[in-house]
Amino acid sequence: MSQQTFERALIVGAGPIGLACALSAKRRGIDPLVIDAGAITNSILRYPIGMTFFTTPERLEIGSHPLVCAGQKPTREEVLKYYRGVVRTEALRVRTYTRLLAAERPGGGGGEGEGGGGLIGCRLRTRLGEEEIECERLVLATGYFDHPNLLGVEGESLPHVSHYFDEAHASAGRDVVVIGGKNSAVEAALELFRAGARVTLVYRGGEFRRSVKYWLKPDIENRIAAGEISACFGAEIVRITVQNVVVRTADGHRQEIPADRVYALTGFRPDVELFRRIGVEIDEDTGQSKLDRETLETNVAGVFMAGSITTGYAISDIFIENGRFDGEKIFGDETARRAAAARYARVVRPKDE
Ligand SMILES: Cc1cc2nc3c(=O)[nH]c(=O)nc-3n(C[C@H](O)[C@H](O)[C@H](O)COP(=O)(O)OP(=O)(O)OC[C@H]3O[C@@H](n4cnc5c(N)ncnc54)[C@H](O)[C@@H]3O)c2cc1C
Repeated sequence: MSQQTFERALIVGAGPIGLACALSAKRRGIDPLVIDAGAITNSILRYPIGMTFFTTPERLEIGSHPLVCAGQKPTREEVLKYYRGVVRTEALRVRTYTRLLAAERPGGGGGEGEGGGGLIGCRLRTRLGEEEIECERLVLATGYFDHPNLLGVEGESLPHVSHYFDEAHASAGRDVVVIGGKNSAVEAALELFRAGARVTLVYRGGEFRRSVKYWLKPDIENRIAAGEISACFGAEIVRITVQNVVVRTADGHRQEIPADRVYALTGFRPDVELFRRIGVEIDEDTGQSKLDRETLETNVAGVFMAGSITTGYAISDIFIENGRFDGEKIFGDETARRAAAARYARVVRPKDE
């Protein structure tokens, strides 16, 4: 273990929201350390290659840096370039490939006033081993993309099974099973079909939800009606083998669907176990942390939460558009908090991700 260092603010997660928090801190004379278990904006790095955002560029901007893109909406590549540009321009201190393993506030929890004072001890893991950092304020902006909702079936960890869709070209001429029925699964199925894969979509729901993007829904429905993409609704995954996905169909039959590649696109959830280890109280059913909605401070004094994790398992309620104001609530004064809340209120929620 290397020597212990001290930070006034440690921000965990160099996603859009963690970076926005870092800018809010910087504007108030605090030079925070940002750490990320992966690269800068690691979640966006894992989006499908070439993906276009549903959000217009100005709503992804942080720290008043303009995001310029070629089309009406930015692509994954333009957004990656943008956020790493902000890190460089603002000289943000970001340590990539550094994971927060645990944090502890001596004396335990207590919101403001209760059990206050004292530093928060954080245990980190880097490529070279473990180290410790003490900080005054710990901001968790860890998102959810690290933790896919697992199917819990045999074969899920086989090498041809992935919970992330990357790109379609490699699947040309192959049998691919896509599990899921929301936007990510529908988008992947269509791309794979257009790249020449033989696609079967397996979904436990009886039909697509209304929340599937309005331009994708007729496309997927027409491809299924034309027999170009196979679909298995109301189906449950029984197991995955090296050759097949075994499903129980809606009428109770077993079916083996050939699969050279399987994309299980069944959503994600925040790492509530990490939050519990830190002492944050979590509601069993909703996954919501106990926090002050105005300041985003949790029940552990000095530990804050920002971004998509603030709404527990309802991961689509906070996205980049509205989560980017969270740093103002954490590092700002009353006026800044009110302004952030007003900007947040103007964001229209997108339909399901
Ligand atoms: C395919 C897709 C398309 C989307 N399109 C849009 C869109 O158009 N507009 C929009 O507003 N939103 C969109 N979203 C949602 C958006 O990506 C998320 O809301 C956003 O990334 C949340 O930001 P965040 O900073 O809270 O979390 P993230 O971006 O997930 O960042 C969290 C970071 O924390 C790091 N981390 C996690 N655990 C640890 C740890 N223990 N130690 C250190 N680091 C850790 C991760 O590596 C990650 O880099 C989309 C999501 C997906 C999946």
